[in-house]
Amino acid sequence: MSLRRAVLQRITPAPSRTPSPSPNLLPDWPQSPVESDPDPIAHPIAPDEHLATSARGTTSSSSNGVVKRWRVNIADHANALPTELANISLNGTVKRDSDLWFEDGNIILLCRDVAFRLYHGLLTRHSVIFKDLFAMAQPSGSETIESCPVVHISDPPDDLRYLLRVLCGLRKFPVVPNERMEFAELAALVRMAHKYHVEDVHTRAMQHLKLYFTNDLATWDAAGADGNLFLHITPPDAIMAVNLARLTHADSVLPTALYLCCQLDTELSTGVERSDGTTERLEQRDLELILRGRTELVRASTRGACSICKPLPSSQCMNKGCERALREILGMMLDGLQKDPIGDIAGYAALDSWEHWIEDVVELWPLCEPCRTMLHARDLEVRKDVWKHLPQYMGVAVDDWKDPTAK
Ligand SMILES: [Zn+2]
Repeated sequence: MSLRRAVLQRITPAPSRTPSPSPNLLPDWPQSPVESDPDPIAHPIAPDEHLATSARGTTSSSSNGVVKRWRVNIADHANALPTELANISLNGTVKRDSDLWFEDGNIILLCRDVAFRLYHGLLTRHSVIFKDLFAMAQPSGSETIESCPVVHISDPPDDLRYLLRVLCGLRKFPVVPNERMEFAELAALVRMAHKYHVEDVHTRAMQHLKLYFTNDLATWDAAGADGNLFLHITPPDAIMAVNLARLTHADSVLPTALYLCCQLDTELSTGVERSDGTTERLEQRDLELILRGRTELVRASTRGACSICKPLPSSQCMNKGCERALREILGMMLDGLQKDPIGDIAGYAALDSWEHWIEDVVELWPLCEPCRTMLHARDLEVRKDVWKHLPQYMGVAVDDWKDPTAK
């Protein structure tokens, strides 16, 4: 019998528990779109450079270097364009998307082997990145499909489809109440909205992500209650959550995402497969944080177990047998610890509640009500302390982490 409830079986909170978005949610996004860039490909840099600081100097001199970083990233798309342009025919290799193909559309996004026929004005209204991409493609643009200009996109079609469906109004997001969203869809929306700078979708997707990977213990605990599920997530998804947090600088997501990664096994080395066949892996720095974090979690679990099982009755104890029963409960816990030093009692799941274990032991050793209440209060105090120190255990700094022990 498992003594402690597996944290990874926790279910998720109802949509009504929406935390406020962080005011610093989009630290590397421009405050307002810039209409034109005099030389958008003057500083070609590596993909994802917009995530880095302006260490290379070419972007730092701009009055809005953030915009510059987004803009110069476009150069990578330009480099990916074929040098020989021609009419492309839809055939067995290139196929039209069954859903996102509007006969009166006036731009085609060719995403690997999938063609989306959409509306130029709709996409540029939502995304300054699409606007730049289209502007760059058109001067040389004799490449067409069915007389529509073609713009090449290097992202996985499945990922881009999720974003395009929202932009075209074919997908309601945030989801309707009682609808359970797949984590893969949410992750794709975060990635694509971030890459193409679709600010409103990005904001909503991050709010959704932070409902689960929260900075607040009460929200975390509420996620374990029965209710309307809004997200379907599996344990290995925590790997992707860590990478999304890194991508978007969402530090408050990291403690719980890394904590859930601490509960994983072989996935930490093998990674997890994405829908497009690529493998999602953690960066070396995060693997190191998890290794160190696991040690901290075992220490915290051991301290917590000893604290909960302290053989000291409640000051309101009404039963002379309680002290002896508490000593026997402590003995049982220590026996379990000896048999399985890094197991249910002192494992990595330091945030798990002991409430079910407490209910089990009081069936064997009936305690008076005050002593029983005392055990539950100790359990809560232990978990509050673990939550308070979780960023520290996971080796990350979070400005807006909520301390549940604060008065
Ligand atoms: Zn008692």
